[in-house]
Amino acid sequence: MRHFNVAVLGAGGVGKSALTIRYFRDDFVSSYDPTIEEIYHKTIVIDGEVCTLEVMDSAGTEQFTTISEQYITSARGFLLVFSLAQEASLQEVRKLRDQIYRIKGPQAQSRVPIVVVGTKSDLTDEREVRRSTIARLSAEWNLPFYETSAKRNHNVEATFNDLFRQMYTRYPAV
Ligand code: GDP
Ligand code: MG
Repeated sequence: MRHFNVAVLGAGGVGKSALTIRYFRDDFVSSYDPTIEEIYHKTIVIDGEVCTLEVMDSAGTEQFTTISEQYITSARGFLLVFSLAQEASLQEVRKLRDQIYRIKGPQAQSRVPIVVVGTKSDLTDEREVRRSTIARLSAEWNLPFYETSAKRNHNVEATFNDLFRQMYTRYPAV
């Protein structure tokens, strides 16, 4: 049975916990302790094969710490999360992407499963990140982007499924 472990990374307050809890508990938590780091488990079937999933919802806002290096070293797939209502949170995604490729080594680019997630799509009046920006970065980085809302349960399942499908392809059974 294959096992896929994922780290959910991004700036504080972008909605990492809300996204993860929506996927694992089908619930929206409007306030979740930002300092809690939680690991979630699930079993899914991909192409008839049972796979176990482990998703780590990271906490805190500090970057380039030993802890985040450990996350990156041990995880085999990544959700890089920013808020569509906060343009600045995209910078954190850019840094994390660079950090992942640095830590995983020169072969990593185009091989490490990564999905970039824009959250809070329901906050249309507060939106700061344009579709054109997303299209440009998606092409530049060669990574899939999803616009999601944990609150409205929009695109959450599709986001996780894309990442698990990438991992299924990237890490074949030995
Ligand atoms: P984290 O620090 O990245 O884990 O962020 P949280 O998941 O704790 O969310 C931070 C804040 O954003 C909370 O007040 C959430 O209620 C809010 N939030 C998260 N996801 C959504 C969403 O999809 N829509 C809206 N409107 N608010 C959200
Ligand atoms: Mg959190």
